[in-house]
Amino acid sequence: MAHIEMQDLPPNNSLWADGYKQSGKQAEFSNSYDVAIIGGGFSGLWSAYHLLELDPKLSIVIFEAKSLGYGASGRNGGWVSSDYPVYRKTLEKRHGIDSANNLFKALFSAIDEIGQIAGQIAPKASFVKSGTLMFARNKAQEKRLEESVDSEHTWKSAGEIGELIKVSKLRGGLFNPQCATVDPFQLVLGLARYLRRRGVVIAEGVFATHTDRGVLANSSLVKAPIVIRASEAFSDPGREFIPLYSLMIASEVLPEEIWDQIGVKNRFTFAEGTHLVNYAQRTTDNRLAIGGRGASYPFGSKLIEAKEMTNSVHQSLERMAKRWFPVLESVKFTHAWGGAVAITRNWEPYVQFDKATGYGRLGGYAGDGVTMSYLASKILAELIAGRESEISNLHFVNDKIRKWEIEPLRYLAVNSLVKLSGIADKEEARTGRPSLVSKLISPLILR
Ligand SMILES: Cc1cc2nc3c(=O)[nH]c(=O)nc-3n(C[C@H](O)[C@H](O)[C@H](O)COP(=O)(O)OP(=O)(O)OC[C@H]3O[C@@H](n4cnc5c(N)ncnc54)[C@H](O)[C@@H]3O)c2cc1C
Repeated sequence: MAHIEMQDLPPNNSLWADGYKQSGKQAEFSNSYDVAIIGGGFSGLWSAYHLLELDPKLSIVIFEAKSLGYGASGRNGGWVSSDYPVYRKTLEKRHGIDSANNLFKALFSAIDEIGQIAGQIAPKASFVKSGTLMFARNKAQEKRLEESVDSEHTWKSAGEIGELIKVSKLRGGLFNPQCATVDPFQLVLGLARYLRRRGVVIAEGVFATHTDRGVLANSSLVKAPIVIRASEAFSDPGREFIPLYSLMIASEVLPEEIWDQIGVKNRFTFAEGTHLVNYAQRTTDNRLAIGGRGASYPFGSKLIEAKEMTNSVHQSLERMAKRWFPVLESVKFTHAWGGAVAITRNWEPYVQFDKATGYGRLGGYAGDGVTMSYLASKILAELIAGRESEISNLHFVNDKIRKWEIEPLRYLAVNSLVKLSGIADKEEARTGRPSLVSKLISPLILR
């Protein structure tokens, strides 16, 4: 992790990993496997899962530099969503309507498949598919959301939404049934337990790098004809992606009387239709977990762990939660954490496999990787097995990754966009009119 400035923070501060103790056992692995996977998050674990589905005899090792779920997979907002980082209209223009339809069809199936598997191997992940709601709290948001109605997103009036969730200044919103909620860390743990039972070796605390004959794992050579890089934002980014921080907070456990005044009975996920990304869920133990962007992009795409704890972003998330639900005024927020997501220049994920070298890699999910990592891994397994199907023909498969601008251009542009998105939201909340700032920045974002 040469480009990462490490700090002495405990691994993964997230609510989901609270109280989890690592086994502390020394990792044991042999010196040759059919497949070596670098990274013990969803991409690495699902890759092993799908490879075994296609060929149960494969010997597979997963190397995780820290501990399982240490990355975004153990820290995220738990939205198993059909959201894709590029708007559907842009996708249709870029790749055609059929291609966009195929993508969403694959995402919808992936959600249901994750649900089915989670029900069997990770019941504690509490997968519930209750949809997602994006609400409008000012006129500009209302206009933007109304314009986004399509076959999956239905407009609901303030009255209809008020039956589901009691947000202040509610003006209506969009409901999409294609989303589920999970405890992501429990899904990681359940998946890892299942893979171990099926003979996959998962070596935690082992830093691995790809070499031409396999991987160097803590400096010893492990031979493998197939190597998969599933290290997402922790990979060396070059100019292929930028890491951007997403941060979260979670409240203390809230009593039923408070939830009666908030709603969200069946645990659908929810967010406000602002420009700056935000996302929330009611956890199984009845906390409010809420996250969002706003931390600055680190110069040179260097990962800096301290950014995960950007105080101003955590505070603004707490203010946002209390604006939505004034009943939370004296409630304590007991957990604060964050992590990096990897964003490519055209905001699309990548799945690549080179038959000649046996090297595959996947990632670039922006903030929408819980479902996409499942789908990308399934595609990669098919590419490795030499199979072809509808999903292995999706538009981003084996596509070339467009490069980000060089520094300091990248630093100036990305941080200006982050800042301007926040300014646009404040402008809309103040005036109720669609922000002029956002009109200027939208074409630059390439979404
Ligand atoms: C705060 C936050 C909230 C989010 N919320 C959502 C959400 O609600 N819904 C959604 O769809 N997406 C969300 N995302 C994004 C989603 O979590 C990620 O896209 C997804 O988890 C990526 O999984 P991954 O396995 O590819 O990467 P990671 O989970 O980051 O796993 C990569 C792993 O590789 C390991 N590693 C790195 N280098 C090496 C090496 N050299 N050797 C060995 N191991 C190595 C790391 O330690 C890490 O554990 C969120 C992300 C964050 C940070």
